Amino acid sequence: MKLGRKQRWFPLHCYGCGDTMDGVSQIDSDVDDAPTKAPQPGCFIVCIYCGAVSVMNADGSARPPSVVEVMEAAADPAVQRAIWSVNYLNRSKQ
Ligand SMILES: [Zn+2]
Repeated sequence: MKLGRKQRWFPLHCYGCGDTMDGVSQIDSDVDDAPTKAPQPGCFIVCIYCGAVSVMNADGSARPPSVVEVMEAAADPAVQRAIWSVNYLNRSKQ
């Protein structure tokens, strides 16, 4: 798993904690083209503050995942690693 370069993004509001994110980074097994690859509609977004998972809409905003999408996110190793990393960082701050 690799972490792509951070890209500025218009404000995304987290449905988990209500905080606002202003950037995104791709997490994938192959992010060599990450600097030019924008997030796509339907991709999962993991909040850097609380680890909640959202889904990107076609207009670039975020929405809560459907039940099916929750199960897809739970089965996606990259999403689970991102959630684990956020939780680890938050525990380290305490
Ligand atoms: Zn959050």
